[in-house]
Amino acid sequence: MDAKQWREDYKEFEKVTRQFYAGEVTVPQYKGFSGGFGSYAQRGGKASMLRLRLPGGRVTKEKMKFVADSIKKYQIDKVHLTTCQTIQFHNLSADTVCSLAVEALDYGIVTRGGGGDFPRNVMVSPLSGVEQGEYFDVAPYADKAGDYLMGLIKTVKLPRKLKVCFSNSPANETHATFRDLGFAARSDGRFDVYSAGGLGNNPKMGVLCAEGIDGTKVLYYIKAMVKLFVSYGNYEVRAKARTRYMQDVLGEKYVQEFQKKLEEAFREENLDIEVSDTVYDKSGDGSAFVDGQMPARVVPQKQAGLYAVKYHPIGGCPSPQKLVEICEAVQLIEQAELRLAPDETMYIINCTAKEAEKILAITDDGADTLFGSSVACIGASICQVGARDSQKLLQALVHEEKQWDLPDGALPQIHISGCPSSCGTHQVGRIGFRGGMKKVDGKPEAAFVLYVNGRDGEDCARFGEEIGVMLETEIPSFLKALGNTVAESGMDFDAWYENNEDVFRKIAEPYL
Ligand code: SF4
Repeated sequence: MDAKQWREDYKEFEKVTRQFYAGEVTVPQYKGFSGGFGSYAQRGGKASMLRLRLPGGRVTKEKMKFVADSIKKYQIDKVHLTTCQTIQFHNLSADTVCSLAVEALDYGIVTRGGGGDFPRNVMVSPLSGVEQGEYFDVAPYADKAGDYLMGLIKTVKLPRKLKVCFSNSPANETHATFRDLGFAARSDGRFDVYSAGGLGNNPKMGVLCAEGIDGTKVLYYIKAMVKLFVSYGNYEVRAKARTRYMQDVLGEKYVQEFQKKLEEAFREENLDIEVSDTVYDKSGDGSAFVDGQMPARVVPQKQAGLYAVKYHPIGGCPSPQKLVEICEAVQLIEQAELRLAPDETMYIINCTAKEAEKILAITDDGADTLFGSSVACIGASICQVGARDSQKLLQALVHEEKQWDLPDGALPQIHISGCPSSCGTHQVGRIGFRGGMKKVDGKPEAAFVLYVNGRDGEDCARFGEEIGVMLETEIPSFLKALGNTVAESGMDFDAWYENNEDVFRKIAEPYL
């Protein structure tokens, strides 16, 4: 579907948005409506967020132009790269959000269905197509899946949102094994299919419901999942409406019911897809890195002589001016594009060594340690439903870490969510924090629930274990003590934790 064909829908968006800002529509009413256009009112109801749907986290030069031009034109002062591979613009006025949502269509960006009970941005391993060691490029399959799902926005009423993703390797960066529907690539060029998984309250691993499927058949599996969700999803109780609750409803019959829907899908229509490989025909130019050594933030691609530059703005919030600078620099590089990762990292791909050096210089304000590349949702200062300001906590921790003089790796990448909705994916962090509250002398104080030992990865994924509740003010001291202990061992956090789970608990105990 051509992006411009959505234009008509936005007339209603503008009408209701204006009613909201005129006080004629309540916050909950507006939330229920605007999410369907990828927009929410921020906390306090005085400004809006707009989420740019970017399938697979790909930001082409055309889309980059929109991002950069919009930041300049509307003087956007807050940008967030999300864990669902989208870009959010924040602090927008009613006029700006209405204009931007429509203008985006001219650049192939459809915000429709970016929130609310719709199929969301289809996720893809960020370096798919250029990554050394990947099983195969899954992006062409994801593109077809995305088109199909967009077609459902106006035709199917889902109980809740539906997140679909594709993973190109065992790293499972998109969490294919625990999404609403995940396609995990295999070494034989086929996919395993997982469904009804997800984070949030009562997180669940997905159910393996098909193995070794032919990629040209992925739409049948999507259709089957949609049918299953419509049949067994909970339309009454919103808190139990995500697909993972169907595991409770159907129990051992889950796979059987999925298969029934799959048979129907195959019977009803031809959904075979034709997929052509994305062509990467740029070659290296023989240039080398200045001191002959590959810089830490450079990832060699499978295309000889080409590199991806990794940039992790703290908390996934690049300064808007920096993002403009990056977009403008990338426009000048042949076949370069941005790829957004589910851990809020950005990659600039298809650079020669010389081009990579330039991008490295522009992006030198990002994380320079593993801990600095930690993940945080946008947090409660902006998000209406949040409990705690995860961004504030992360910014403070990253600032403090610089004074602690720890070797890189002594502290892991941590994941912070402002509430149980898990947008900061706290369950998969080696260390995770989730916004909450702790009573001190009978009074509620800002706090976070501590989790440990979560991880993604296809065969080793697990959700972190809940350890206890820590006051927000105590978290820096705890992490400093932990970092010092790990540093003394000479190991990194992962290696240290293997044999020191009990020590971890002892370090945490006084702060809980
Ligand atoms: S985790 Fe909670 S606070 Fe953070 S963005 Fe999601 S809903 Fe908002």
